Amino acid sequence: MRIGVIGGGPAGIFSALEAKKTQEFVTIIDKNAFLGRKLSSTGAGRGNLTNSNVDPGVYSAFDNFAYSGIIKKYDFDFLVDYFSELGIYTYHTDDGWTYPVSNSARNLSKYLEEVLKQSNVEIILNQTVIGIEKSDSGIQIKLDDNRRLHFDKVIITTGGQAHPQLNASDSILIELKKLGHKIIPSSPALSPILTTKTNSKLLNGVRIDVEVSIMNKANVVANTFGNVIFTEWGLNGPGVMNISHYIAKNQGQIVLNIKFMQKEYLFKLLTLLKKYRNQSVTIEHVLLPFLPQKIIDQLIINSKIDSQIQINQLKEEFVQEFFSNLSIEEKILGTRGFEYSQLSTGAVSSIDVNSNTLESKITPNLYFAGEVLDVIGPCGGYNLHWAFVSGINAGRSV
Ligand SMILES: Cc1cc2nc3c(=O)[nH]c(=O)nc-3n(C[C@H](O)[C@H](O)[C@H](O)COP(=O)(O)OP(=O)(O)OC[C@H]3O[C@@H](n4cnc5c(N)ncnc54)[C@H](O)[C@@H]3O)c2cc1C
Repeated sequence: MRIGVIGGGPAGIFSALEAKKTQEFVTIIDKNAFLGRKLSSTGAGRGNLTNSNVDPGVYSAFDNFAYSGIIKKYDFDFLVDYFSELGIYTYHTDDGWTYPVSNSARNLSKYLEEVLKQSNVEIILNQTVIGIEKSDSGIQIKLDDNRRLHFDKVIITTGGQAHPQLNASDSILIELKKLGHKIIPSSPALSPILTTKTNSKLLNGVRIDVEVSIMNKANVVANTFGNVIFTEWGLNGPGVMNISHYIAKNQGQIVLNIKFMQKEYLFKLLTLLKKYRNQSVTIEHVLLPFLPQKIIDQLIINSKIDSQIQINQLKEEFVQEFFSNLSIEEKILGTRGFEYSQLSTGAVSSIDVNSNTLESKITPNLYFAGEVLDVIGPCGGYNLHWAFVSGINAGRSV
């Protein structure tokens, strides 16, 4: 059979590799000049390929996450072994983030392109697929040089909209919609968050592990714990990026609540407070063992008390409220957009996809893998894991 793979990112490369094990002719097509352009920029150039904590529970979707079976079947150990068999060796950090030993995502893309060539996969570069049609015995695609190619089966692995500066686009979705697939409008995910900066002006440059929540009035819309970096426009870092996709779903008066005290140290702080409650020390003195100076200064400014006032002169209600909060709230203005995000949500709805084979329920012989499907993983290698294993799954299904 002739298999066409549209999109030469991690999902497309692994689809093609796997399909070639059983099928005679496999062609991979990408609009860029080399395969794995986005892959080459991942993990700050190092390529955070997977995570030892991969589990269906960490994934979500704009609608419903439908592919737990694939994540269970192709888990962390499976993928690490699969890499090793290809000659790609990995190591992981204490928190499970897994990198190639070369620490180079670009080396990995180059290596994989050569592996495909050695496997006799045909590679067509610098060509954009601009049309997909059903034909009598399969699928016909149109390239932007007007060539038409016929395949028995086609796997779509065209990714999402994040980082348009790397030539990412989801123009293929128009073709999939024409065929009758439900397309969920894309919005940025794993994105920095823009805020009004009303209550955190002093904090630029502060980097800290915190509990972050997106709140809609009194309701917690999303909550996570992770590292954040305060900037002049809002917040960056995994702690906010992992929940940024909830912003598109909750337009309006939403705020970011950032709790600075880690639960495990709160009891110790309250014990120290008890010791000093009736003494002539400032609030700053009690907080110094727990928080960076800039955060202490900001919390005191936000509370509108005189920083020099001594704790034994403060009313009990104020002290209780101040020490039980130790947090700030900022109004959310939006995400920083596709240009700064690492993922886009939505695209092909799982309603129209067989969750075992990844074949379209609308167009037989058409399959999907990777970010073009409605799947959201957090920072830490989970999205590349999905791209690689869904690619393997689709390649084995054709
Ligand atoms: C800056 C950055 C850093 C990231 N870091 C990490 C990380 O460390 N770990 C992690 O897990 N995830 C990371 N991600 C997310 C990860 O890169 C994606 O989840 C992953 O690349 C998705 O793989 P894919 O194969 O589905 O799509 P892509 O990698 O986007 O590949 C799709 C390919 O399809 C091609 N294409 C699209 N349309 C057409 C068309 N019409 N015709 C022909 N070709 C087409 C594109 O040129 C592209 O090469 C990062 C993302 C970004 C932007």
